[in-house]
Amino acid sequence: QEKYKASHDSLTGLLNRDQFYEDVHDMVNKYHDTTFYLICSNIKDFKFINEIFGMEKGNQVLIKQAKLMASNPSERTICARLMNDRFALCLPREEFDEKRVADSIKELQREFSGNSFHLHTYMGVYEIRDRDEAVSIMVDKANIAADTIKNNYDCCVAYYDEHLLEISIEQRRLLGEFEPALQNDEFVMYLQPQVKRDGAAKGAEALVRWVHPSRGILTPYAFIDILENAGLIYKLDLYIWEKAAQKLAEWKEKGYGSYHISVNISTKDFYIIDIYETFTGLINKYGIAASNLHLEITETTLMTDFEKNMNIIHKLQGVGFRVEIDDFGSGYSSLNMLKDIPINTIKLDQVFFKTDAINAQRAKAIISRILNLTHTLNIHSVAEGIENESDMKFLQRMGCDEIQGYYYSRPLSVSYFESYMDAVNKK
Ligand code: C2E
Ligand code: CA
Ligand code: CA
Repeated sequence: QEKYKASHDSLTGLLNRDQFYEDVHDMVNKYHDTTFYLICSNIKDFKFINEIFGMEKGNQVLIKQAKLMASNPSERTICARLMNDRFALCLPREEFDEKRVADSIKELQREFSGNSFHLHTYMGVYEIRDRDEAVSIMVDKANIAADTIKNNYDCCVAYYDEHLLEISIEQRRLLGEFEPALQNDEFVMYLQPQVKRDGAAKGAEALVRWVHPSRGILTPYAFIDILENAGLIYKLDLYIWEKAAQKLAEWKEKGYGSYHISVNISTKDFYIIDIYETFTGLINKYGIAASNLHLEITETTLMTDFEKNMNIIHKLQGVGFRVEIDDFGSGYSSLNMLKDIPINTIKLDQVFFKTDAINAQRAKAIISRILNLTHTLNIHSVAEGIENESDMKFLQRMGCDEIQGYYYSRPLSVSYFESYMDAVNKK
């Protein structure tokens, strides 16, 4: 009994990590003619299952997941719970049936997903090449593969290759550089003008750039996802929001008190910081109007924890903040949502304007209906990613309130932005 306890996980009855490492090492060396897979599974945002639904539910998910992993018992299959929501499996390559695994993951999803939570289990597969390699490294490699599909809800199994290791090293380097870079002010707020129908520009979206000492100016695509996955995005966001508030205070002082800045809020920010306290804190600290600091959130943010986040939005609107739905039309886009939340602004996603000629007509039909709806519901509209005059003209005709895109300007450094505004608004 003592020995069992020392080698097994008490909740699921599977092997524990140490025993798994030992048994896998022995097995792959015993059957050298067999090619083995080492597979690791992970559940996205598992800690939120515990937080939102309680430990009991969390345990149910784990037990079910354990059953799933161990559902293919054979003499040469070893299955374990490594820690928390991480499970591992080692078995001969020919005994792994990807489709069966994918189907059972879907079943698990159906059982536990609800309106406010989508359960996402994802697995990484590493084909063991070097039998003397430490099992912990094999596990790392399987996890590296798994992480590539962490944010892809349509996919639940990914395979490791050497290229992934390079990417993962690169990501770790970037994460290592992040905090010092923040201290050194390497992150810079760029501003992309938002132009009104009458041609006046009254504000901008804040878009971050990393002015890297050796790699030049990095766009957000190079680092936002990595910071989000590492749970660090809030530090960058706090920094940019502060810069935006500072700028608004400076403009107010100089007589440009009507200019606004829209800032991006990541879904993860809502988990980690008190959004309401943070933004009210900023307007108080800098003596600016809440209505000049626009808050961009995505539909995903709302859907992730609808009641809680709705509540925060209501409170923010109560003190005068304008809440904008970013990338409208690219995600869930339930029109239903517009019924429940009195959103101030929707930002039409770029996808509508990045389409081929055949679908352009259909896209236009959709845009015009969405704009119609915004008029009826008294919602402000901004179109993003507008690159040419014909799209601009079309949007004007349809009554879109503001336009943001390369047609008017790329995101600019603050000093260029200020010159731009002077030039445009003088005309
Ligand atoms: P987004 O919020 O949808 O921002 C719009 C993106 O579209 C920006 O890319 C902008 O440069 C680009 N864009 C604007 N007009 C055009 C156009 O006419 N044509 C094309 N092709 N692109 C256009 P950017 O600056 O690279 O930002 C990418 C994404 O990174 C943003 O998408 C946003 O989701 C995220 N992001 C940027 N800054 C921050 C930040 O401070 N915090 C957080 N959490 N996310 C940020
Ligand atoms: Ca945005
Ligand atoms: Ca957007």
